[in-house]
Amino acid sequence: WFISLEGGEGSGKSTQAAVVMDWLRSRGMPCRLVREPGGTPLGERLRELLLNGTGRPVPVAEMLLFAAARAQLVETVILPSLLAGETVVCDRYVDSSLAYQGSGLGLGWEAVWSANRWATRGIMPDLTLLFDCPPELARARHRRPGDDIERRGQGFHRRVREGYRALARAHGNRVVVIDASRPALEVAAEVRRVLERWFVS
Ligand code: C5P
Repeated sequence: WFISLEGGEGSGKSTQAAVVMDWLRSRGMPCRLVREPGGTPLGERLRELLLNGTGRPVPVAEMLLFAAARAQLVETVILPSLLAGETVVCDRYVDSSLAYQGSGLGLGWEAVWSANRWATRGIMPDLTLLFDCPPELARARHRRPGDDIERRGQGFHRRVREGYRALARAHGNRVVVIDASRPALEVAAEVRRVLERWFVS
């Protein structure tokens, strides 16, 4: 199985990744956690370039760099793991690009998807958990000087959230929205309930 975790900054997505991994391990399922951008030596270099603002990429360049990191991850890690029978949990995947570069930067879903269809070879998650949280709350929780919320502004992060919610409406069979404005323990309990329902049915 292929599970992706999505959400804005400060949504608690990475904390919940550990909950997903514990749940899978407790069921005796072989699993692997990867993160985007990153997860491969090339991907980690691209992550550094993208996150420290080097060279100020224009929107299309930013989108293609994320897609390049993803192509490397799909080909060298995700695909081999899935073929070996592991469940792969990916902290961010193509929905991040649709929401951040497609909706946040305004490139649109079609342009982003056309590059990513190629980068992913059409490999899409079976299940996506979307940790939904108002950016204002995420910011209050997460605030660090110069972080992404500060750097790109509230308007950008509101568009990202709306993009994610629209993706969830368009792909309701794959995307489950989890209200991440609640305390982490409550969110974790819901994550386990969703996994229980999904794997049992
Ligand atoms: O999930 P994590 O906090 O590690 O994400 C790293 C950063 O990359 C975030 O600040 C997010 O805004 C950014 N990002 C992005 N576009 C993507 C994926 C991540 O801007 N497609």
